[in-house]
Amino acid sequence: EAAINRIAAGEVVERPASAVKELVENAIDAGATRIGIEVADGGKTLIRATDNGCGIAPVDLPLAMARHATSKIDGSDLLNIHTFGFRGEALPSLGAVGRLTITSRSPGAEAASIRVAGGRMEPVKPAALRAGTVVELRDLFFATPARLKFMRSDRAESQAITDIVKRLAMAEPSVGFTLRDVSGGGEGRVTFRADAETGDLFDALGARLGQVMGREFVENALPIDATRDGIRLFGYAALPTYSRGAAVAQYLFVNARPVRDKMLTGALRAAYFDFLSRDRHPAAALFIDCDPTLVDVNVHPAKSEVRFRDPGVPRGLIVSALRHALAEAGH
Ligand code: ADP
Ligand code: MG
Repeated sequence: EAAINRIAAGEVVERPASAVKELVENAIDAGATRIGIEVADGGKTLIRATDNGCGIAPVDLPLAMARHATSKIDGSDLLNIHTFGFRGEALPSLGAVGRLTITSRSPGAEAASIRVAGGRMEPVKPAALRAGTVVELRDLFFATPARLKFMRSDRAESQAITDIVKRLAMAEPSVGFTLRDVSGGGEGRVTFRADAETGDLFDALGARLGQVMGREFVENALPIDATRDGIRLFGYAALPTYSRGAAVAQYLFVNARPVRDKMLTGALRAAYFDFLSRDRHPAAALFIDCDPTLVDVNVHPAKSEVRFRDPGVPRGLIVSALRHALAEAGH
């Protein structure tokens, strides 16, 4: 059982950044409006996620650590997935390959904590916490030396963590994020911060994208908002005159999940085909929202790939909406 868990865990947790992604998504699912992430040594020795979400009741703590236990789906409707999590695999996986401690308090209950290290679960203990959840993951992959060897430099792993936190922050403008590097102890150093945005969708999104991609991008981008066949495309796409040199700044999301998808980036390229030379990448942050049954996000546990039931619709929508916006702006 412990060995099976460790093998399955390797599928979900490839590197520190994938652990960060799972913890932040859980905090978002829990309705948090403030999420703090602290990492040390590229996340290899410590990842700590603190949120002000709904918390976990003491009786539910062992359940949260059990494989395939999720509070987010009842099994009857696997295709209709609205929250990030739905497999109940992240926490048990993290507990199988590292030393995981969850401390949590749900309204009306006492705070409690539970620890799982190398797949061995300890009993729930009383703890001190005012509200929300703190998930602490130490010594990632200590239980799987082969994985440990494949980790890259602290710097490279830190970079991957910053990238994933920024991507998640782009999709959740109403949530405040703070990422700290606490290598060497103490308060550490803030490496990324985005305050919770209020206001309408485009104001909040514009402000958040400014914090992540830079004000320059937003000031040189067109707001996009188009719907076709039940699929909504919105976000910001840069004017062809806006250049970031060779840097790629393409951010795509499907139902608020950051995705990397050849079809979608191909559509983006097609939309700008008349304006950009082949070696220049159009900068954009685009969000596709659709009925969860129209898209399969269940392709891989890391969940960054998507498969649309009919890829022609999102593709056509991107090309036509962007070309229309560019034409309106005189291009
Ligand atoms: P999933 O997210 O797929 O449900 P996880 O292993 O990531 O599976 O989490 C298991 C369960 O633990 C979740 O369904 C949720 O009930 C609970 N949980 C995890 N993280 C948090 C959190 N930060 N706040 C509240 N509940 C949480
Ligand atoms: Mg989860």
